[in-house]
Amino acid sequence: MRKETRSTWKNWAGNQTVTPELSFWPDTRDDVVEIVREAERKGLPVRAVGSGHSWSDVAWTEGCLVYPQGLTRILDIDAYQLRAVLPVPKRHLVQVESGITIRALNAALHLRGLALINLGGYDGQTICGVTSTSTHGSGIDFLPLCDFIRSMEIVASGGKVWRIEPSVKSGQSITDPDAFAAAFPNRETHELVQDDDWFHAAMVGMGCLGIIYSVVLEVRDKFLLKETRELTTWREAKKILSGERIRLTREHFELLLNPYRVDGDNRCLITRRVETDVPGDRERSIYIKYKAVLDVSAWWVRLLSTIWPSKIKNTLDSAIEALVDDDFTDQSFKVFHIGDANDIRVLSAEYAVPVDGDTWIAAVDSLMETAERVARERKQYLTVPVAVRFVKGTRALLSPMHGRDTCMLEVIGLRDVKPTESILKDVEQALHAHDVRPHWGQVNHITPERLRAMYPDSLPRWQAVHVRMNARRTFTGPFTRRVGL
Ligand SMILES: Cc1cc2nc3c(=O)[nH]c(=O)nc-3n(C[C@H](O)[C@H](O)[C@H](O)COP(=O)(O)OP(=O)(O)OC[C@H]3O[C@@H](n4cnc5c(N)ncnc54)[C@H](O)[C@@H]3O)c2cc1C
Repeated sequence: MRKETRSTWKNWAGNQTVTPELSFWPDTRDDVVEIVREAERKGLPVRAVGSGHSWSDVAWTEGCLVYPQGLTRILDIDAYQLRAVLPVPKRHLVQVESGITIRALNAALHLRGLALINLGGYDGQTICGVTSTSTHGSGIDFLPLCDFIRSMEIVASGGKVWRIEPSVKSGQSITDPDAFAAAFPNRETHELVQDDDWFHAAMVGMGCLGIIYSVVLEVRDKFLLKETRELTTWREAKKILSGERIRLTREHFELLLNPYRVDGDNRCLITRRVETDVPGDRERSIYIKYKAVLDVSAWWVRLLSTIWPSKIKNTLDSAIEALVDDDFTDQSFKVFHIGDANDIRVLSAEYAVPVDGDTWIAAVDSLMETAERVARERKQYLTVPVAVRFVKGTRALLSPMHGRDTCMLEVIGLRDVKPTESILKDVEQALHAHDVRPHWGQVNHITPERLRAMYPDSLPRWQAVHVRMNARRTFTGPFTRRVGL
């Protein structure tokens, strides 16, 4: 196992950096156990990073930082002490080490005729990086990615390996307890917990419950998606979606919005992705495929932000119009991926608001009013359109989508355009009136008081598991202290 002293880590966006005492690149589960034990001997905190795609402080520690690059294997599911009768067909269960990237996993699954059930717009993150922050795609009937997990192995305080999965009563557990006891007879070092609260706590742990070594995921047979992107206005979109009609939208449905009015209305792009059996014969729009086109647009917006900021709103209209496309069909994972826009360095914040009673529509209006007010008062503009996505409510205790069907409002600005951070703060403040819960991996200003108000029932249940797994406070650090975990 590689180990370094005081080597600097930086996240993908370059807005978080730390020089931890020790950095480790484990290759096996035993390595992870050894790291936790060594850290505890030295009195240092530990945290795993994925591929550093979070904008927030969620991934780092000044103690021992654990890198994922040696933990990227797909493991033999037959060696997982499975029950004879399983809640899903065995061919749809895949055990992977925690550091495999979504990109590598998509490729490996595709070769086996399989695919992940749903995805966000990007694939550079690691599997346990995305599940740990409740990363999501879009579609009111689709859960966040943490809900693919059927079982997980976590190395927690004392270097103890916990296998955590749903209760036997739920009908969702997959491990045979007798086979597990035979394989791991020492309960001091390995313990199987089949308990719903433990499982729902561990699904979204933000690195605070230990180092996840592996997860068993539910996947499905591979499938094609057809994507259409249609231009409209926010006023028209509201007409077709209000009265909770968002619940009637098919499959993967999302909006992209200009937060600023041009000629009296906000430009809006509706993207639909629907499963199909008919293969496509068309290329994707050049604005999605070619990074050079996007680089020039980003350069232009950066220039406008210094010489003529009020023109940014017209550029956002043009950017949205350029994405119109009436038919693109390909393998699901290629269609979910939004293309090279992911490579442009931005700062992003995302806010979960309930769908119920059209709360989400009021929240979008409030976001836009805030953006317009800041533009009027301070001449500061968001430089990227706002993404509006929908996610089914999950039982994961600290997921922003916990217990309610959710609309995710993503507010983005080019990293190098100075006012972005302060606009994100204003928007978060305004959205508190709409019962908002920020995305853990994105820029957020969560405080202990806000956290208790956001998760009044599920936080104590999560904490009851946290005190057991983090008994020696090994996974405590600047992030946990800031948000009050
Ligand atoms: C270009 C881009 C596109 C994005 N698209 C989306 C999107 O479509 N939808 C969405 O919801 N979000 C999106 N995000 C946010 C991103 O998915 C999350 O921030 C995600 O958590 C990052 O994963 P990562 O592998 O980079 O993990 P990191 O950011 O490095 O870490 C995230 C968390 O996971 C924990 N963690 C990682 N590995 C382990 C482990 N083995 N054991 C325990 N804890 C672990 C870390 O401690 C940390 O708390 C995007 C971000 C970027 C930069």
